[in-house]
Amino acid sequence: VKTLRLVLGDQLNHQHSWFSSTNENHLYFMAEMEQETNYATHHIQKVVAFFESMRNFTKWLKARGHSVVYYKLDSSENKQDLAENLNYLIEKHHIEKFEHQLPDEYRLDEQLKKFCKSVSIKTKAYDTEHFYTERTELETFYEGKKELTMEYFYRHMRKKHNILMGNEKDPEGGKWNFDKSNRKKWKGSPSIPHEKGFRKDVSEIVSLLNKKGIKTMGNIDKKNFNWPTSREDCLSVLNYFCKNLLQHFGDYQDALHTEQLYLFHSRLSFALNSKMLSPQEVLEKVISHWREHKNSIDISQLEGFVRQILGWREYMRGIYWKEMPGFRRSNKLDNQNKLPNFYWTGKTKMNCLHHAINQSLDHAYAHHIQRLMITGNFALLLQCHPDEVDTWYLGIYIDAIEWVEITNTRGMSQFADGGVIATKPYVSSGNYINKMSNYCKNCQYSVSKKTEDDACPFNSLYWNFLDDKRKHFKNNQRMNMMMSLLNKKTAKELSALKNRAQEIMKNPDKF
Ligand code: FAD
Ligand code: SF4
Repeated sequence: VKTLRLVLGDQLNHQHSWFSSTNENHLYFMAEMEQETNYATHHIQKVVAFFESMRNFTKWLKARGHSVVYYKLDSSENKQDLAENLNYLIEKHHIEKFEHQLPDEYRLDEQLKKFCKSVSIKTKAYDTEHFYTERTELETFYEGKKELTMEYFYRHMRKKHNILMGNEKDPEGGKWNFDKSNRKKWKGSPSIPHEKGFRKDVSEIVSLLNKKGIKTMGNIDKKNFNWPTSREDCLSVLNYFCKNLLQHFGDYQDALHTEQLYLFHSRLSFALNSKMLSPQEVLEKVISHWREHKNSIDISQLEGFVRQILGWREYMRGIYWKEMPGFRRSNKLDNQNKLPNFYWTGKTKMNCLHHAINQSLDHAYAHHIQRLMITGNFALLLQCHPDEVDTWYLGIYIDAIEWVEITNTRGMSQFADGGVIATKPYVSSGNYINKMSNYCKNCQYSVSKKTEDDACPFNSLYWNFLDDKRKHFKNNQRMNMMMSLLNKKTAKELSALKNRAQEIMKNPDKF
């Protein structure tokens, strides 16, 4: 049966069973489409990374003897819309069956369901063969439970997949979680190797985007593109991580530093989210490297990494399918403010935000704590509408795909889900930032001041936020300590803090 098989841009799974043998009746289809470049304003490096990776994947498919139709963005046949392209190809190639892999985004899932209903030929959906879990596995796991604590799901995954287990029931190393030892500040040592970089010339794709007038954000060095865009590139980033970074990964997971963009982070998120690497092979490789180097790499470094991939990543996927589409509209704290303009330009005097945002604009990357405790923290303290915050996060990062972006942003970072993912909002004053980074040392604002003209804006915004949102935290035990500290403030102290906070909120771009 003449079959059209769709491969989406984030389905570049070389190990998928579809590709293990060739069949002359199978026609694969991939396309660069305005539908995808325009549903959000993406970072230019993100669009380039996807297009370059899709092109490399097509080359790989063709070299293995598969038939592929690939539409570049300016191809004359490209209708720029998925359904229109599919309809056109079905007619042109006399297709008798349509097959696709299950998309990870709700919007594409809906579109493909609708498309499949609309055609008269047979259709079939396949698993992407990428994740450890199926879409609904998390929902089943938590059935009947009030709280969706990640830790229990993570332990279940460790047991189920026999990952870092001492025996059937107990974790290797005697502890499930070494999070408490993952909180060191980085002060110039141990030295951090240069990231595994690539110096690719991607001028052609950049010109194509310009020619088609695609609106993007951020900057690009088009002769020295630095992200992995092929299976070989991705494997080399993984190897590099094992050899050079794993050793200190856990210790400095929460550290922040002005001179270090990546610290000991792996930079694997794009390779994983585009599916060029599978989470299974990443964990197998990292764990086997650890087994060979147990003398020099402590289990706490490894466990921190395993938790991110086997725990958080699979957990976010499950939450997404459990909570969508309602999740996209959630705004439990009723935040209504606009995101400051400086998120798009990097022009702010606050040193922490200046670094985190400019780095994001230049490299399409910020590590987790920058996303959570700098940009996310500030947006929440400023009481920005989660739609505004999501729009920014969905655009700016190389790894931003809705299933993992929205759960981290709306859920973990903005508490807009009212506590489905996080038990309390991730907010802090300047104190935490000062403890974990060197940002405050050269900042125009003083982290120890609260209400003066040169006081760190995070300080007054923090108390103002807690005061404004009192009713939301009334029954949240994990907020008790913060709220009782708030209640100890005199009326005069609180009023001075609130005045300063109001001044910042009125025009954050001045700060
Ligand atoms: P490492 O620190 O080396 O971690 C290894 C891997 O673990 C990552 O590559 C990633 O696949 C996984 N991982 C780590 N933390 C998480 C997490 N919280 N959720 C899911 N997977 C995780 N991650 C995305 O992949 N896409 C996003 O759009 C995204 N948006 C985020 C938005 C906010 C507000 C926050 C707080 C976090 C977001 N994250 C997102 C999670 C995390 O920040 C990134 O996965 C990580 O920074 C990517 O860099 P890395 O590969 O060097 O990660
Ligand atoms: Fe950020 Fe405040 Fe520190 Fe400045 S003083 S870097 S604004 S936390």
